[in-house]
Amino acid sequence: MGTETDVVVIGTGIMGMASAYHLKRNNPQKRVLVVDRHGAPGQGNTGRSNAMFRNTFSSRDNQILSDSSIDFYIHVQDELKADVGLQKIGYLWLMDEAQLSRSGPYLERMERSGIETVRHDRRELKRLLPNLVTEFSSDAEAALMNLPSVDGGIFGPKCGRLDPDKLVRFYAREFLAMGGQLMLNTEVTALIVGPSKRLGIEGEPFVWQDSKVEGVATAGSGEVRAETVVLAGGAWENELLEPIGMESHVKAKKRQIFSIQSKGEGLDALFHAKGFNPLGLLPLVILPKSGVHFKPVSEGNFWVACEDQVNRPYIDLPEHDLERYQAERKYYDRSVYPILTSYFPDFKGSPVRSMWAGLYSYNTIDSTPFAFKKDGLVVVGGDSGSGIMKGDALGRIVDALYRDEEEATLFGDVPYRTAKIGFEKRDVEREEWVI
Ligand SMILES: Cc1cc2nc3c(=O)[nH]c(=O)nc-3n(C[C@H](O)[C@H](O)[C@H](O)COP(=O)(O)OP(=O)(O)OC[C@H]3O[C@@H](n4cnc5c(N)ncnc54)[C@H](O)[C@@H]3O)c2cc1C
Repeated sequence: MGTETDVVVIGTGIMGMASAYHLKRNNPQKRVLVVDRHGAPGQGNTGRSNAMFRNTFSSRDNQILSDSSIDFYIHVQDELKADVGLQKIGYLWLMDEAQLSRSGPYLERMERSGIETVRHDRRELKRLLPNLVTEFSSDAEAALMNLPSVDGGIFGPKCGRLDPDKLVRFYAREFLAMGGQLMLNTEVTALIVGPSKRLGIEGEPFVWQDSKVEGVATAGSGEVRAETVVLAGGAWENELLEPIGMESHVKAKKRQIFSIQSKGEGLDALFHAKGFNPLGLLPLVILPKSGVHFKPVSEGNFWVACEDQVNRPYIDLPEHDLERYQAERKYYDRSVYPILTSYFPDFKGSPVRSMWAGLYSYNTIDSTPFAFKKDGLVVVGGDSGSGIMKGDALGRIVDALYRDEEEATLFGDVPYRTAKIGFEKRDVEREEWVI
């Protein structure tokens, strides 16, 4: 049993589906097949994310990748009339003086790149968020936690929320309409490497032969032979790369989201905080301590998360079943809640409605995505927690790599040199604004 195709894409997350869409769109005569172990697209980490987007990055590369992807998502919703749940509610970073002054050079760079940010001083923040606690002079618990004061805020207006499920379904629907194919409930067990020129000798490829990836082995559906294999396997890429002597410099880390039921008028008013966006909604708020952040979801419901880097293990070969990574209630109660309620006491006593965990795929070199082509294989990943907001640009770069183009054209006719984001001639800036 076996299948032959021109391109096989592993993964139906945002990376795989955006890649498949652009590959099929720009190479309509090519057969493109997408394989995933799940029964529907977007059931990996794409389906577990916080569903936020921002163009406010310190690295020029991340600015370009996110800004052009956001423009495409706006285009999908406004012009193609496909609802992807996109709302520009904004991001608000709350900071003390030291953090504000450290951010200065990054904000200047953003301004030079045309990325808009708005600075609020403490008085303005108190006007917009009356119940925000900005100082802790006589608070012993705050002193123990070493909580910074809030001396100002940075607001990103071209930031917001979207629905990753709707977005992935948009790509999948269009891909299928163009004649692309999905092979779901199928585990890829190995990348098949063969000689570039087959001699018919048993044991090929030998070291003296050039070799290339020429397909994938699956559990239950035999081999899929293809001219090009695109690996968009997210946190699980090492599992297929390491056996053929390649690596993606990706390590996974568990991240958690806590869904909080609003209790009381204070939180209801916070949800509808005016003055940030035309929707009259609170933006995503990032607190000055440990990257604790929260966003409004629906009436009476907030999601809370935390940038928990330290003392959290890296995972080289993650479990296939993400249910094995449980959110930890104790972690919320003892680590997140004290910080959250110190700045926003309105959260006190609000119950956790549900919680879940997923995996960030960190590019351990520079926290910036990569995409490269080598010997019949295109690999994309290393999103470091912001892959949805950069997914469209990365899909276009995958397509350009497939066609051996030196430059990809991102949405809005933005040129991007493909070698920049690979490993051999990598030329990207390290990201400093990771949430
Ligand atoms: C808690 C949390 C919050 C986040 N918040 C945000 C956010 O607000 N904004 C944002 O942009 N990003 C966010 N992210 C990151 C975002 O989820 C990822 O960047 C993005 O989903 C990565 O997409 P992907 O396609 O690479 O991976 P995935 O969505 O994980 O897709 C990979 C797919 O490959 C399949 N696969 C892998 N190996 C195999 C195999 N051997 N055989 C068959 N199938 C295989 C998997 O089944 C999976 O469906 C968050 C992540 C987490 C965990």
